[in-house]
Amino acid sequence: MLVVISSEAPKKRKIYHKMGCIYAERIKFQNRLEIKVEQAEKEGYCECKYCAGLRGDVRTHKAQILSWTQKKEMEFKFDDHTETLYIKTKIGFWKIYLKDDIDKYLLYHRNKFEANTDYQELIRGEFHRQKDVKQTDSLVKLVEYIDAHDKAKVVIQDDYHNLPRRTKKQKKYYKQAERKVKREAVKRMDTLFAMLERQNPSLKNVSIYERSSVC
Ligand SMILES: [Zn+2]
Repeated sequence: MLVVISSEAPKKRKIYHKMGCIYAERIKFQNRLEIKVEQAEKEGYCECKYCAGLRGDVRTHKAQILSWTQKKEMEFKFDDHTETLYIKTKIGFWKIYLKDDIDKYLLYHRNKFEANTDYQELIRGEFHRQKDVKQTDSLVKLVEYIDAHDKAKVVIQDDYHNLPRRTKKQKKYYKQAERKVKREAVKRMDTLFAMLERQNPSLKNVSIYERSSVC
């Protein structure tokens, strides 16, 4: 990640900022340097309290978040107490938080989602780690992932055959969707049979597999 420093910062005020931080904008143009965060820390710069962490990312991405809200139909909420960012899309609920020891964001996906669920209830629900997303320090990447994920899911719900299959990753998702649809088809058959058996218990004696009469 690139950060902004002032080359003329006095020793006691060696601070680095994220791009878009209001304090980075106050650095004089001729003193402004963009360097890697690792380099900044090596040179003794400390993170800015305003733009550091997830809270800081939310602050420096205000315009971007507003644009996502409008264009991608997402709802963003930052919880001050837990320092967690919640994102609600039309078909899913997500949360992002910063894992301190590695200084990277982790993405979690709510196991179940119903559009009319109360917000407090959504927060309390069970989540799973979204495993195919690498740890990252980019909030933008995560939001783009969520957007692509949920758009693909809408296509799958419609018909997974319409998913793109150009890149390796897309092919992988296609296969995953295919397996999921097949699994769900089996589940539906089981449910259907259970229902029919409740209505007509004698069906339990009917096997869908043909038994060999020899044994
Ligand atoms: Zn800053």
